[in-house]
Amino acid sequence: MNSSTKARVASVATTVYVVVALGGYRPACVVSPVGTATALGQIRPRPIISRTIGPPCESSPIFSRTVSRTSVGFGNSVESSVELARRAWTRLDYKAALDTLDRARSDFRETPPLLAAYGSVYLKAEEPSRARQYLDRAIKLDGGCAEAMLGEAEASLLEHNYAAAEDWLRRLLTTNPTDNKNASSGHVLMARVRLETGDRVEAEAEAARAIKADPENAHALYIMAFLRAAQRKPAQVRSLAQRALEIDPYLAGARRLLSQYLNGSAGYSQKVDAVAMHHFEAGKALEAQGRIGEALSEYEAAASAEPGYYRALIALAGLNLMQREYNKAVAAASRALEVDPEGAIANMEIAYAQIGLGEQSRTEIGATDYSLRFYQDRLEPVKSSLLRLVFPDYDKLSGKGRFVLGKSVSGLASFLPGLASVSARHYLLRIDQSVSECAGFKELRDRTTFDGRYYASIRGVGGRIALSGIEYLDEASRGGFNAIAHEFAHQVHETAMSVEDQNAIRRLYATAVREGRALDYYAAANEFEYFATGYEAFVSGFKRPGATLTARHTRDELRARDPGLFSLLAKMADKSAQGGAD
Ligand SMILES: [Zn+2]
Repeated sequence: MNSSTKARVASVATTVYVVVALGGYRPACVVSPVGTATALGQIRPRPIISRTIGPPCESSPIFSRTVSRTSVGFGNSVESSVELARRAWTRLDYKAALDTLDRARSDFRETPPLLAAYGSVYLKAEEPSRARQYLDRAIKLDGGCAEAMLGEAEASLLEHNYAAAEDWLRRLLTTNPTDNKNASSGHVLMARVRLETGDRVEAEAEAARAIKADPENAHALYIMAFLRAAQRKPAQVRSLAQRALEIDPYLAGARRLLSQYLNGSAGYSQKVDAVAMHHFEAGKALEAQGRIGEALSEYEAAASAEPGYYRALIALAGLNLMQREYNKAVAAASRALEVDPEGAIANMEIAYAQIGLGEQSRTEIGATDYSLRFYQDRLEPVKSSLLRLVFPDYDKLSGKGRFVLGKSVSGLASFLPGLASVSARHYLLRIDQSVSECAGFKELRDRTTFDGRYYASIRGVGGRIALSGIEYLDEASRGGFNAIAHEFAHQVHETAMSVEDQNAIRRLYATAVREGRALDYYAAANEFEYFATGYEAFVSGFKRPGATLTARHTRDELRARDPGLFSLLAKMADKSAQGGAD
């Protein structure tokens, strides 16, 4: 795996297509764009957790390959320092990476590869302008520095300057024809440029070139897995994502993608010790009452009485995630994965814990904390009595969780009474809970969606009764995609809107498609995705740099690009605001 290409691939928005009410259940439309996803913290109670990055605690075999890469056997040179730093940033420890580079800078000369490595750390931290300060200096010293060119391309990609990204990549690929690793990384970035600009055919060709140049490039395998997901080839998604994770177990995006294509049952059919089961059941009861500390103790007792107790371990990891104890979450979920490597939830928990660690690591080196900006935004009042009716989990949310939920629904709050009158419900799935564990959805246990994901392993189902993963609240709060707003818009559109409103949307959609005003190809698919995508943009004041094509839309963008839809949504929002609070 190679230097600067640090995978913002993780943030490729997995777009999963668009079916309205297929066979009664519509899988949630958009798989979370993982680079911007996060992990929990939205459920009450939420003790203040200090940052917990320490030495990597992953003792599981899945991390052994990476963890074993210590400094042993490394010489004393700029190259070995850069390699050590790379290992640190790969395992999401950006501070350690910078410390290593600082030491090298004081011991040796400031070489272009060293400067490029600083750039890579800041690119991982989604700070393209800080990365540029180093990359530009590297290029000035050596215009042919491959790592710096890759970094410049990636910085341009994060800034959505595709022409510049392409220029840098062409320069790299023509000047370094025999450097397979850097060429492979260049092709991965080119594949991302093609994806972001809507050319999936060329994206696939670039991903194939990347794999050919370096079959061990985990990012290349991941982007191909992503493309196979869009082509609805589940077996290939699984094998590509699994290979990527064998090479780089910290590739959270690949693990998040993989988890939806797994449906391991070994962990659920376990025969466990009666004492252990008693502790587990007690933990569940306490958790339901919001007694999180006591629930944690019970799950720990269960997992200690029966060390490979899958359900206790994923429940434990779920609470660790909620408390932002990410290293503990990785440890518990990794133990669960040893029992069932196909366990969807254990895999997902590890992915979210890694995303959380990445966020903590970003903040630690002074990168922008997007959630601060999110929570400073204005919130239109919404009647909590209505929210409670439609979102039965409302009372379990922390103040911040309620804020995100309020932001997600406020623009269409005037439809809440209509939703309530047809008994529409939008449940929030706990992190260790699967769709098929919810009342009314149990028969989905072994069914797959039209694109080959398992209903039991996806994190959302739309319709009059909708389910969304609780983790989506966190994702929205960090400047990522607001999946709950998107699904809520579908719910309103499909079950609570007047025929006049529906007709108005149909006309706007036809005009937008004719005039090329739809926000992206996903929004252009049909009037339902058009409305849900537009509404998600409408409630989004800003998005972070890593948010990708289908995830990055904002209110200002909608206003400029599709004033007709903006004006309809503004009217709906005005009417909603008049409803006031309770
Ligand atoms: Zn949708």
